[in-house]
Amino acid sequence: MRDVTIIGSGPAGLTAAIYTARANLSPLLIEGWQSGGQLTTTTEVENYPGFAKGIMGPELMKEMRAQAERFGTEFLTGDVSAVNFRNNPLTLTIDGERTVASQTVIIATGASAIPIGVPNEKRLIGHGVSTCATCDGFFFRGKDLVVVGGGDSAMEEATFLTKFATKVFIVHRRDKLRASKIMQDRAMKNEKITFVWNSVVEDVLGQEVVTGVRLKNTVTGKTAELACAGVFIAIGHRPNTALFTGQIDMDEKGYIRTLTGTSTNVRGVFAAGDVQDSTYRQAVTAAGSGCMAAIDAERFLEKLGE
Ligand code: NAP
Repeated sequence: MRDVTIIGSGPAGLTAAIYTARANLSPLLIEGWQSGGQLTTTTEVENYPGFAKGIMGPELMKEMRAQAERFGTEFLTGDVSAVNFRNNPLTLTIDGERTVASQTVIIATGASAIPIGVPNEKRLIGHGVSTCATCDGFFFRGKDLVVVGGGDSAMEEATFLTKFATKVFIVHRRDKLRASKIMQDRAMKNEKITFVWNSVVEDVLGQEVVTGVRLKNTVTGKTAELACAGVFIAIGHRPNTALFTGQIDMDEKGYIRTLTGTSTNVRGVFAAGDVQDSTYRQAVTAAGSGCMAAIDAERFLEKLGE
């Protein structure tokens, strides 16, 4: 029986581990087969406070993990394959084999940017393909960029990228945007933004780094190449919550609903980071909510003890 079990090893999960470990709660962190979360797929992180010269995403996660380990976090490599939040204690099954019982669970399984699913997209992530303009836009000063999508995210990312880029092409599969009127207007008024309508990215071009995209017109079927130094994919995010379906309250998009602080509708279950946040989605906000979840879990255990 554990006091605290944390699912997820991104900034939210590891911060929750640092705090609960320092509170002598001997947390167990289930880190999945791919440890470290979304930051392990980025290159340089320049906006995480405390690193004046920036730090590489994987290095930052390694440091966070070492910090959690230093205070006694126990790590378990594996994927949680099932949870049962209906009984007390809460139980989790790892890789269909081992079961862990816990008084509290902190869910920090994050979210994943939806990929467009073209052949070279994954290979060039961190080398010109990005899913976060706030994180990577700065590296594209004076370059031409492509943003894929027609929703608010695409408009927001494209508008933000014009601070650095010479030109930003928004590639959208239809001739109408899904984005809200105000975001559309802002993008349309921006002289650096050009819309490429009725088009999909058929592939990302480039050996070491991105050099362009191959586009296909969805109406005529014609293909054309567009030179660019970066491709920002903004077709939405998916929270990693399939595992919790039917066990916990989620919004219509599958994000876990938090009530006060990080508590959920299930007693003893807390949620932190991108799994419950579709708005900010930053490493530092995830870490902040991981800290909140740790404090919430600690107080819950204290009350349970009384
Ligand atoms: P979204 O609203 O779901 O829009 C996704 C866009 O990507 C749509 O235009 C969609 O095209 C396109 N798309 C989807 N799959 C695609 C594919 N496989 N290939 C090419 N294009 C594809 O997602 P979002 O823009 O991330 O926004 C998510 C939510 O967050 C929304 O509720 C939004 O309002 C909110 N948000 C708000 C703000 C803000 O207010 N500041 C900023 C960002 C996001 P179709 O239009 O053809 O379906």
